[in-house]
Amino acid sequence: PRSGFCSSNSIYYSKRKPLPLIQNPFLDITTFISSHTHNGNAAFIDSATGHQFTYHQLWLAVDAVSSSLSSIGIRKGDVVFILSPNSIYFPVVALSVMSLGAIITTTNPLNTANEIAKQINDSKPVIAFTTFQLVPKITASSPNLPIILMDEEEEEGKPQQQSKTVSTLLNMIRREPSVNRVKERVNQDDTATLLYSSGTTGPSKGVLSSHKNLISMVQIVHRRFDAVDPQTFICTVPMFHVYGLAVFATSLLAIGSTVVVLSKFEMHDLLFSIQKFRATYLPLVPPILIAMMNNADAINRKYDLSSLHTVLSGGAPLSKEVTEGFVEKYPKVTILQGYGLTESASIGSSTDSLEESRRYGTAGLLSPSMEGKIVDTESGEALPVNRTGELWLRGPFIMKGYFGNQEATASTIDSEGWLRTGDVCYIDNDGFLFIVDRLKELIKYKGYQVPPAELEALLLTHPAISDAAVIPYPDNEAGQVPMGYIVRNTGSSLSEKEVMDFVAKQVAPYKRIRRVAFISSVPKNASGKILRKDLIKLATSKL
Ligand code: AMP
Repeated sequence: PRSGFCSSNSIYYSKRKPLPLIQNPFLDITTFISSHTHNGNAAFIDSATGHQFTYHQLWLAVDAVSSSLSSIGIRKGDVVFILSPNSIYFPVVALSVMSLGAIITTTNPLNTANEIAKQINDSKPVIAFTTFQLVPKITASSPNLPIILMDEEEEEGKPQQQSKTVSTLLNMIRREPSVNRVKERVNQDDTATLLYSSGTTGPSKGVLSSHKNLISMVQIVHRRFDAVDPQTFICTVPMFHVYGLAVFATSLLAIGSTVVVLSKFEMHDLLFSIQKFRATYLPLVPPILIAMMNNADAINRKYDLSSLHTVLSGGAPLSKEVTEGFVEKYPKVTILQGYGLTESASIGSSTDSLEESRRYGTAGLLSPSMEGKIVDTESGEALPVNRTGELWLRGPFIMKGYFGNQEATASTIDSEGWLRTGDVCYIDNDGFLFIVDRLKELIKYKGYQVPPAELEALLLTHPAISDAAVIPYPDNEAGQVPMGYIVRNTGSSLSEKEVMDFVAKQVAPYKRIRRVAFISSVPKNASGKILRKDLIKLATSKL
């Protein structure tokens, strides 16, 4: 039996029951999910408008949209771009595209037109789904990319004026499923999603996740909620990110839950939605948890939050202090934690019960069928319990690799299938994972990925900057903020504010540099790699 710690080769096997194997190699994620759910509940509700899809309507809509896409020539392997805030239409598009064996790529709608252009150039989508407001961010770089609108402003006929290539999702949904639909066989190993992540180093790269990766995630959720009554979840977590996509837009459907969708985070809307829809589960990133903990209206019971029994925190570290503070303010709510990364199609480990959650600070037990190693970063040796090193993961969730980037793939996944997470962790005697630090460069601002390499490349385009390094700086509210260490050209009087403004004009708001310090040279090792740990030490030494 593979459970607990195996000392002979220092591999940690998940203590949870392994996932059942699915024999049929030809299975897509959409077919897998739809075979699990057919109840009369609402599947998705828009918290603002109250518009909803029941499960019945959802599957009809998915059928109609996938038929329409097929009839306009979308085929297996084509990439489809989704640029949208959370909406009840997001899952319809995602499930439809994936049912055809086509691949979805998503990005943060806050990204600038330039940032979006980079992803379009890399992923080469054949069509895009977006909202009326966001159309210009696509047409700026790709005026000929066909666009399908996901919101309802089309009723007023505006989009047609904007571009000849725009059509609407609602028209697709209203159509009868076409008999001409081309049904290609989708293999579990075919790519389903192409989400972007900077991984352990460098700029953002396309993460190739397969149908099998996502199906495994659904199996976890299914196992976890087996025999539990359908729950009502609030979705503020972005569906363009693996957390939202793999959990809300897909997995939760397999357990018949209702997902109340918030298009953007606003504390009043969040609290009001919990009250109005009697939500039971609230998945969050730590900054929102902190905001909730400090919200006077919530604490003073201006809202009836009595239905809420579980908060799931993931995407960034959750400190012991915050956990304790939250539990004090909301004593009836259990805080569960999940840890994962885009490269592991969401969940690597989690706490699943009140009892497990009492081990404050842990990111839980490895997911079912997941194997872990803690590797000494100097010697490469796999370490025993309670020793700290880099976490390596292996299992059915791990990505296939980075799109068109063999070098990055080879340095991230080894020949035995182990994924280097870039996270510094230890596993205790009972198999619980603790995340201690981040080895990789990645900065997480309010749970959003900020790749330092992208900001450094941008800073180097400034005529008065001769070198630059960007590091994470701790921040109570955001978790981390990007800080720039700048080497000015001789004689330059460039100010901190000028540096921040220069960056702010060219990047999405969450990527802004919020702290600047000037230095005479950037510390680097013999091969020219920035010694970020030294800079982090320098920056935080005064704290
Ligand atoms: P992303 O690919 O955007 O999901 O980012 C993944 C990274 O976020 C991980 O490698 C961790 O560094 C961090 N992360 C995610 N979940 C947690 C967690 N529960 N605790 C600490 N760090 C986390």
